[in-house]
Amino acid sequence: MFSNIRVRLTLWYVLTFGSLLIAFSTYIYSSLSSEMRRRFDASLLRNAKAIATHFNEIVVRNNVTGGADRAIREFREGREAIAIFREDQLLASTGEDVTTAIAAMKVLDASESHSEPLFATESEMNKRLVVVPFQEGGQNYRVAILEPLDKLEGEIGRMRNIILFGLPAALALTALGGFFLARKSLAPIVTISEQAEHIGAQNLHERLRVRNPDDELGRLAEVFNALLSRLDTSFRVMREFMADASHELRTPITIIHGEAEVSLSQNLTSGEYRQSLGVIRDQSRRMAHIVSDMLALARADSGEHRLRVEELYLNDLVEECCRAAKSLALKKGLRLNYKLDEDISLRGDEELLKRMVVNLLDNAIRYTPAEGSVYVTLTTEQSRARLVVADTGIGIPPESVGRVFDRFYRVDDTRARASGGSGLGLSIVKLAAESHGGSVDLISQPGHGSTFTVFLPCNSTVHPNGDA
Ligand code: ADP
Repeated sequence: MFSNIRVRLTLWYVLTFGSLLIAFSTYIYSSLSSEMRRRFDASLLRNAKAIATHFNEIVVRNNVTGGADRAIREFREGREAIAIFREDQLLASTGEDVTTAIAAMKVLDASESHSEPLFATESEMNKRLVVVPFQEGGQNYRVAILEPLDKLEGEIGRMRNIILFGLPAALALTALGGFFLARKSLAPIVTISEQAEHIGAQNLHERLRVRNPDDELGRLAEVFNALLSRLDTSFRVMREFMADASHELRTPITIIHGEAEVSLSQNLTSGEYRQSLGVIRDQSRRMAHIVSDMLALARADSGEHRLRVEELYLNDLVEECCRAAKSLALKKGLRLNYKLDEDISLRGDEELLKRMVVNLLDNAIRYTPAEGSVYVTLTTEQSRARLVVADTGIGIPPESVGRVFDRFYRVDDTRARASGGSGLGLSIVKLAAESHGGSVDLISQPGHGSTFTVFLPCNSTVHPNGDA
C-alpha cells in the first residue's frame, strides 16, 4: 500500500497538515482558556471592589452598623456567596454561610500579611475565591466572594470538545482532499505510463500526447518523446544496416554456392577446378573483408571499440601503405606519387590508421581510370597532421559528396560492387579519423577527380621531405 505514491503523498500531507493543526489548536485552546480565566478573575475582583466601595459609602453616609448586610444584599444577585470580615471576624455573609466563612478564613490565614487582593481555587467545591482587603475608619476589612467555576469550566470544556471532535474531522477531510489532490496531480503520470506501455519496437514512431508542454510533466513527456525519437532512429539505422549487410553478403555467398554447385555437378579439368577455387577464394576474401569492416563499425557503435593506442610515426605508416599500393596502381596503369613530411608522430591505433590509409588509396586507385594519377601528401599545420589523398579519377557527383561516408552507400552500385567495393570503406575512414580526434573532408568534381583530406591531432616536428 505504501509503495503507492498517491497514498504516500496523502500520508505526508495529513502528517504535515495534522501536526500544524494540532499545534495551532493547542495554542488557541490554551491561550483562549487562560484568557477566559483571566477575565473571570478580573470580573470577580471588580465585583469585590465594588462591594467594598459600596460598603464604605453606606457606612460613611448612613453611619450604620448593618452596612455590611446591605452591601452584600445589593450585590448578591446570582452570586454563590459573599462575606465581609472586620479583622478576622465575620461581619456579614450570604449564600452558603458556613462554607464561605471556612473558605474565606483559610485564605485569610494565608493572606495575613497581604494587603493585595488574593485569589484561590477551592478545588473540592470547584469554586473560585477572591479576597479583597480594604480599610475604613482605621479598621481592616476584607470582602470575600466565592463563585462557582462550573459555568467557566463548561465553556472551556465546550471549546475543548469542539477542538477534540473537530480535529479528527478536519484531518479526515484533509486526508480526503490530499488524496484527491495527489490523484489529480499524478493523473498525467498515469496517462503517460499507460501510453508508454503500448509503445514497443513495432510502433516506436508513436509519441506521447503532451497536454501542457510548459509544466514539469509536459517536459517529462517531451524528454521521453525525444528519447523515443533517438531510439526510433537507432532502430531504423540498425534495420537498414542489417538489410544492407545481408544484401551485401548475399552476392559472394551466391557466387560461392554457384561455383561449388557447378564444380560438383560436372567433371572438370584440374585447371577448371583451380579456376573455380580461385573464384571461391576471392569471394570468401571479400566476405571476410565485409564482415571485418562490419565488426569494426558495430564495435564502434556499441562503444566497445577500444583503440590500441601507441606512439607511432604517421609518415612511416603512410609510406608503408603507399609502397604496398604502388604495385596495384602500376598494374592499373596509374601513377602514384607521395610526398610526406618526416617525423610526424602521434598517439594512435596503428591497425585502424593503416586501414584508413589503405581504404583511401584503394578507392583512389579503384575509381581512377588508366593513365590517371594519385597524389598523397602528408604535412603538419597547427599541431595537426594533414593527409591528402587526391586522384584524377571519375569524381563524385555533388549530390553524393555528403553521403559517401554513410554505410553501404555507393554512388554507382553496380560498378562499385563489380570493382569489389563493400560500401563500408569510407565509413571506416571516418570512424578512424574521428576516433583519433580528427576529421575527414572531401572535395570532388565529377570527371576530374576527388580529394580526401584527413586531419589528425599530432605532436610533430616538421622536416619537409622529398618526393618518393
Ligand atoms: P566502396 O567499398 O564501394 O568503395 P566506400 O565507402 O569506400 O565504398 O566508398 C563509397 C562510395 O564512394 C564508392 O562506392 C564510390 O562510389 C565513391 N568513392 C569513394 N572514393 C572515391 C574516389 N576516390 N573517386 C570516386 N568515387 C569514390
